[in-house]
Amino acid sequence: MKHLIDPTDLSLEETNDIIALAEDIIANRRKYAECCRGRKLATLFYEPSTRTRLSFTSAMMELGGNVIGFSDAKNSSVSKGETVQDTVRVINCFADIIAMRHSIEGAPLAATEVSRTPIINAGDGSHSHPTQTLTDLLTIKRELGHLDNLTIGFCGDLKFGRTVHSLIKAMSRYENVKVILIAPPELRLPSYIKTEVCDKCGIDYREVSDMESVMPELDILYMTRVQKERFLDEEEFDRVKDCFVLDAKKLAAAKSKMAVLHPLPRVNEILQEVDADPRAAYFRQVENGKFVRMALMLRLLEWAENDPTPSTSAFEGAVSEGHVCSNARCISNLEPVKPLFRESQTEPGVYRCVYCEAKAR
Ligand code: ASP
Repeated sequence: MKHLIDPTDLSLEETNDIIALAEDIIANRRKYAECCRGRKLATLFYEPSTRTRLSFTSAMMELGGNVIGFSDAKNSSVSKGETVQDTVRVINCFADIIAMRHSIEGAPLAATEVSRTPIINAGDGSHSHPTQTLTDLLTIKRELGHLDNLTIGFCGDLKFGRTVHSLIKAMSRYENVKVILIAPPELRLPSYIKTEVCDKCGIDYREVSDMESVMPELDILYMTRVQKERFLDEEEFDRVKDCFVLDAKKLAAAKSKMAVLHPLPRVNEILQEVDADPRAAYFRQVENGKFVRMALMLRLLEWAENDPTPSTSAFEGAVSEGHVCSNARCISNLEPVKPLFRESQTEPGVYRCVYCEAKAR
């Protein structure tokens, strides 16, 4: 049985297969209308969401299945002190597949340790968001026709933006992908993604502090919101909140076939005047999210039926002795799960947390 916690839990072939299946669903929607008849999805959303939760819900409904769950942890037993793992043990009695969003990093991975059904990470803190990544890949494929030979500019909050972290991981597996990181110094990409993903895969990347100078090079401009809810210091947020704003004038310098993506919600980083430009793909991206989640759930349910043994690959080779995760927002520091670490492949002697990838102390 497979879970989707990190984009690399799917091999490149599996990823491409899910994208192809989503394209087939788009072309033949009726064919899939009964595929999940009698099946139930549980959406366990401990953190706010509009698109992700409702697109999972609508995806399962379009497959003929049903949906249970909560959209506010205050309405669940979490408010009484129940752990993530206990909640999952309970939900296993009611649902065939679980999509979980949590502000605690590593919570969905901790859930896989006890779950008898597939777990999908629907966003964990500022760490990872693999189903947004599948959405982004399908959107790039549909807008530009291919996923290789691309220059992608990531703009805005690259530090806390989990969708950026996951998409860079996924794109690192396609040929000849170049990455341009457009962010103020305070919001730069975490160093573990630079070393463990970009350096390891030999991705050509550079960091710049303005959008205008790189605009003509880009095939994709991936805009992001500054993640207000992750800042501990409000003054720091105020300093960076308006760092990049895309307007029609800046877009005029872009290639005619470039696509602008944004995981949404947008706040002020894309002016509404951009929406009418044919390169603005962010609302088409939302719809792609539903189709790719249909494809993902079909595959995960199929794989679970063929092999119900829970996968333990995320924990293989991990050690626990002598380390503590340095991330205060990691599940291993907040709930009774066994802390687990793995030695970095690019920095010998450095151990990283299996749940959130932060360094061990
Ligand atoms: N919806 C995306 C996420 O959940 C992006 C955002 O919230 O800015 O990460």
